[in-house]
Amino acid sequence: MPTPSVPPGSRTTRATARPRPGRRHRRGRRNRRGLAALTALATLVVGCSALRPQDPAPGAARSSTPAAPPAAAHAAVREALAALLAARPQAALGQEANGRLAVAEHELALQQALAAAQRWGLAALPLRAPAPPAAKPELADGPGVKRAPGLPPVVYRVPTTDRVVFLTVDDGAEKDPQFAAMAAELGVPMTVFLSDYLARSDYGYFRGLQSHGVGIDNHTLTHPDLRRLGADALQREICGQQDRLQQETGTRPRLFRPPYGEYTEAALRTAASCGVTAFPLWNEEAFPDHLEWRYPDQVFHPGDIVLTHFRAPAADWKGTMPDMLRRVVDAATAQGFAIARLEDYL
Ligand SMILES: [Zn+2]
Repeated sequence: MPTPSVPPGSRTTRATARPRPGRRHRRGRRNRRGLAALTALATLVVGCSALRPQDPAPGAARSSTPAAPPAAAHAAVREALAALLAARPQAALGQEANGRLAVAEHELALQQALAAAQRWGLAALPLRAPAPPAAKPELADGPGVKRAPGLPPVVYRVPTTDRVVFLTVDDGAEKDPQFAAMAAELGVPMTVFLSDYLARSDYGYFRGLQSHGVGIDNHTLTHPDLRRLGADALQREICGQQDRLQQETGTRPRLFRPPYGEYTEAALRTAASCGVTAFPLWNEEAFPDHLEWRYPDQVFHPGDIVLTHFRAPAADWKGTMPDMLRRVVDAATAQGFAIARLEDYL
């Protein structure tokens, strides 16, 4: 039976403790009220800190000391923070109070991240991606990039020294709400490449992903092998899906992934004519039960693009989409990589 690290009753005791007399007396009433609110807030945060990742799941047996469930406790801290910020702009708080507020916000974010990692069964807290580069990497022909003059670059690995990899999800057949919830709660950035014939049964699902920062990009109308198509069909498949996605998502894609990773110079030209600026391919492919590596070293490299699919459990797909996401995130974390947004780099 886990022992709470905060003894019973301590929350109440701290919540009602008055700020000690001393230099605070020299401050005005406004600041004293701000500090009192922060003291109450800090108490709530300390209460949340007792909710360690190893706490039993809701409904499981727990110690006789009742504690607020994590969601309720986090909501209380969020509300307290929001009320404090709304009532008293940060500029009006003293330096000391702002420092405490920053600590409380940091602690809250960490607690939420730990709770999400535990809820989704991750082995460790995922690494946070660094700030996006101030300037996007130059995509000249070279390692990881194929580029012919005047045509969009084909990219397997983004030229960067940041320890980041990019997750890309193709086609759009399986629309698993658990996967969407997991990606949103963990804050995993993704780019999805949609083929209309699979996505169109529920574009709303993908708009939901988009509302959490997921990039929606082009993977043709009907998923043909582009090498077999004439000029009219290329135009219809590539530019037709540009129009369709713009209509469905409000944004015209910049990225195009050719089905099967196969393309021609005519496909590159056609895509460029309707707004495509890059063809991201991939180096690794993720499945629920394993990762496939392009190179014999079997590790991620800075800037690698990882392919996976919207797919339901099947003979060749041994698990669920959350299983797949868990595998990718845990592998990245174990190798010291964060998952970053492809659109920040391409
Ligand atoms: Zn595909």
